[in-house]
Amino acid sequence: MDVTGLKVVVVGLGSSGVSAARLLQTKRARVVANDASPRDALSAQARALETAGIELVSGEHPIALFAAADLVVMSPGVPDFPELSAATDRGCEVISEVELASRWLSAPIVLIGGTNGKSTTTELVGAMLKKAGKRVFVGGNLGVPLSEAVGQDFEALVVEISSFQAERSKCLHAKVHALLNVTEDHLDRHHTFEAYADAKGNPFVPMQPEDVAVVPHGDAVVAAQAARGKARIVTFGATPLAQVGVDGPDIVDRSTGSRYPISSLRLRGSHNLTNACAAIAVASSMGVSPDAILATLTSFEGLPHRTVFVAALDGVNFYDDSKGTNVGATVAALSGLPEPKVVLIAGGRDKHGDYGPLVDILRERGRAVILLGEAAERIQHAVGDVLPSRRVKSMQEAVVCAKELALPGDAVLLSPACSSLDMFRDYKARGEAFVHSVRELCAGVDA
Ligand code: ADP
Repeated sequence: MDVTGLKVVVVGLGSSGVSAARLLQTKRARVVANDASPRDALSAQARALETAGIELVSGEHPIALFAAADLVVMSPGVPDFPELSAATDRGCEVISEVELASRWLSAPIVLIGGTNGKSTTTELVGAMLKKAGKRVFVGGNLGVPLSEAVGQDFEALVVEISSFQAERSKCLHAKVHALLNVTEDHLDRHHTFEAYADAKGNPFVPMQPEDVAVVPHGDAVVAAQAARGKARIVTFGATPLAQVGVDGPDIVDRSTGSRYPISSLRLRGSHNLTNACAAIAVASSMGVSPDAILATLTSFEGLPHRTVFVAALDGVNFYDDSKGTNVGATVAALSGLPEPKVVLIAGGRDKHGDYGPLVDILRERGRAVILLGEAAERIQHAVGDVLPSRRVKSMQEAVVCAKELALPGDAVLLSPACSSLDMFRDYKARGEAFVHSVRELCAGVDA
């Protein structure tokens, strides 16, 4: 794509916006970086754009800026705003940073989308391709923005894609696109489940018969999205019916006939078994050998704050699943734990979803639920008298209270089903607060 001399507005100056602005400048566009936050509230990196000769417009989205734009690049964190119509009404393209970068990349793109399991699966696929000796970029919504890959010599690009990025990626061409699952999330931004599912499914549309769509076996929502394009379908799941599925003690890849013992997986939890099946389907489609796949499965430990064992105290096991930021994730984390009964610590910023599926699993597996943050009241209301619930004000209080209610043999699980932003900087800070409080409790007992 030639953007020489074009006026390109990059909206939202998080890490992907800053990368996109820099990339466009190297491609000789007339770049304007725009963020509604005041200049002082922007990161040093964003302010440094000015020093690099990029015009910075902060504190508002001036309508004149969008009326004069030839192309708009929107960051995932920025919802649509009225001034944007000054661009869209003239037919000006509004695209994601991922799609922008893809226009200058020739290596095959592997997209990993879905409500849950994206980061784990992205890293796992990346590790499999690296084990196969390929020069691989791993990033996107997770870690390094795709724009950073432009101009580098990669043989494959493994990219985690969020619904907000996919929503604005109508012409992003992937060689392989895995859509792991679609359950309710982000309804505060997408408004309806259908709109959310359609956004997630956008990358299927440009796919061709030589491309591969990796989809969960028997999932009608994802199947309908994959049917919007022409890609060959490969199914995965914890069932012998999937093309990459579970047969007795093994994962079986029917395309190669390879078997991988489930006991060789370092990842824990039934949700991670399906993530592993999806990763095998993707890697196998990319030509990775069964040996490289097996070697990766036996060494890949998973990522922090995703169902990680923290400590045991008086026969109670504590797990940090702070990245469980929606109902589907928390249900998966709860179902995947080996302990029969769980004290769940949940709550945070509400995403306007339905807590019904959480209440269903709590009825079976819950010992008690401890509630924090803005969503506490809504969750407590949904739980009703299904099991004991307590509302607390801090993570430390949550951990102490959870320990009081747990019996030996139980688990205490932090998996909030909500975002962290009402009380913490991000899910990492929330997970660290939990781990700190658990360690404090253990130290208090030791003393
Ligand atoms: P994402 O990048 O999509 O948020 P992660 O790999 O970071 O996914 O996992 C986030 C959380 O989602 C985990 O902590 C776990 O609670 C849940 N999870 C992971 N994989 C799955 C899955 N396949 N299905 C449902 N929930 C999952």
